[in-house]
Amino acid sequence: MKAPTRPVRARAALAGALLLPALSFSTAAPVAGAPAAPAPDAFSRDFLPRTMRINLFHTGGKGVEILAVEGIRDDGPWAGSRTQLVDELGLGAYLVEVLDPPTQRLLYSRGYSSLFGEWETTAEAKSVHRTLRESVRFPWPRRPVQVVVKRRDKQNLFHELFTQLVDPSAREVNLASPPQQGSVWTVFENGPTETKVDLLVLGDGYSSKDLPKFHDDVKRLVGVLFTYEPFKSRQADFNVRALDVPSPQSGVLRPQSGVYLRTPLSVQYDVFGSERYVLTYDDQALREAAAQAPYDAIAILVNDSVYGGGGIYNDQATCAAGTGFADYVFVHEFGHAFAGLGDEYYTSDVAYETGRGDFPEPWEPNVTALKDPDALKWRDLVAAGTPLPTPWSKEAFEKQSLAYQARRKKLLAGGAAPSEVDALFREQREAEKRFFSAEKYLGKVGAFEGASYEAHGLYRPSVDCIMFTRTTGGFCPVCRRAIERVIDTQTR
Ligand SMILES: [Zn+2]
Repeated sequence: MKAPTRPVRARAALAGALLLPALSFSTAAPVAGAPAAPAPDAFSRDFLPRTMRINLFHTGGKGVEILAVEGIRDDGPWAGSRTQLVDELGLGAYLVEVLDPPTQRLLYSRGYSSLFGEWETTAEAKSVHRTLRESVRFPWPRRPVQVVVKRRDKQNLFHELFTQLVDPSAREVNLASPPQQGSVWTVFENGPTETKVDLLVLGDGYSSKDLPKFHDDVKRLVGVLFTYEPFKSRQADFNVRALDVPSPQSGVLRPQSGVYLRTPLSVQYDVFGSERYVLTYDDQALREAAAQAPYDAIAILVNDSVYGGGGIYNDQATCAAGTGFADYVFVHEFGHAFAGLGDEYYTSDVAYETGRGDFPEPWEPNVTALKDPDALKWRDLVAAGTPLPTPWSKEAFEKQSLAYQARRKKLLAGGAAPSEVDALFREQREAEKRFFSAEKYLGKVGAFEGASYEAHGLYRPSVDCIMFTRTTGGFCPVCRRAIERVIDTQTR
C-alpha cells in the first residue's frame, strides 16, 4: 500500500465515507492477491512525510512560565532526516519530544532555543509578564502522540514544562496546506530534502522594486557562507532555496530610530532594547511564509544599511544585508541558529543580565565553565602542552575593546551615518588582527577566559573565532566540529 503523502483525517474517512470517498484510501485494506508491500521503515511506521507545526504561546515573567497551544497546522512537506529522529546533539535551552502514549516510546525529539528563553534573562522579565510566540515542528504522526516540551533548570538539566496529547484526527488540527505567498526560487540544489540540509533564505523590508537586490544579496551572502569551513567542504550536503515576499516599502521597523514600518515577517531592530539585535517576534508570520518551501534552517536577510542581526538555535537567523559587515553578521548569526554556537564575545553591551558568578556547564558546544579541565568537552582537540586555562592578553584586549565601544556609542548618539560606524568597525578589525597576531596560542585550541558575555568563569576554545570578533578568520576548530555534527545528523 502506498503511503499517503498528505495527512488525511482517518475519523472523517470513517464518519463521512459516503460524502468523502476520496479520503478513504488511507485506511483501505491492501487488495487481495496484490504482492506484499515491503516492511515499512521506522519513519513510515510512525509518520507521514508532512510537517506538523504546533503554534505555542510562551508566557511568563515574575517567576512564572506557561506554554499553551495556539493552533496546530500542516506546515508543508517534511524536509528533515527520516533516520535521525531522536536528537543526540544535546543543544538548545528547550527540548521537544514526541512520544507514543501507550508505550512511552520516544518517536522524535529536537532541541531548540526561543525568544522567550532569551527574554527571560533580561531585567524586564523580573517585573512584567509577557507572551512570545514560538512553534515546534515534527513529522506528521499517524496516530495520537504525546508532545512534551522540556526546559533546562539552573544546572542545565531538562525538566518537563508542557505535555499534551495531540490527535492528528482531532478537529483542532487544521489539515489545509499553508496558503500560498510569494515565490520560491532555487539558489542551488544537490539532492533529496531528507538527506540534505535544506536552507531557506527569506527577505524582509524588500519592496517589489528591491527584489533584484534581494536576489543579489542572497547569492552574495550564501556565497560567503560557503567560503567558510566547514560549510565550504560540505556544500554538496546542502540545498539552498529563497523566497520572494515583497514588503510594501523598503526597510524594517527600527523603533529606537523612530522608523516605524510594518513588513510581512515583522522583522525589527531593537529587540529586547538592544539597537543592533534584529529578529522577528512574529513566529506565526515567519512560519507561514517559510512553509512555502521544505526547510531545516531559516535565514532572513533584512534590507537595511544599519548594522544588526540575530540568531537563535533552531529558530531564526537574521542579517542586515546592506551593512559593510553583512558577511560577518550572516555567518556569525547562522552559527547560532544552525549549530547552537554561543557567543564567544563578552565585552559588548547585551540585554541579558550578566555577572552571576557560578556557572553550570553551558550546553553551547563552544563555551565551557572549565570545572574539570580533564573532562573538557573539546579536550581531544587540545594539543599536548597547552595549559588549561590558556593564557592570553586578556586585560589589554578588554581595554582596547572598551575604547572602541565608547567611540561607537558616541557615534550612534551623535546620529552618525551607518558608513561611519562601518569605518570604525574596520579600524577595530585591523587593530584586533594585529593584536591576535602577537598571541602565543593563536590558532591553538585551549580554554581562554571570557565568553558568552561573561569576563570571568566562562571560557572559549580559541583566542579568536568568528563567534568572538569580526576579524573573520573563520570558525575555530571546536565551532567547526559542532557545525559538522549538525550537518551529519541532517544528512543521514
Ligand atoms: Zn569558536
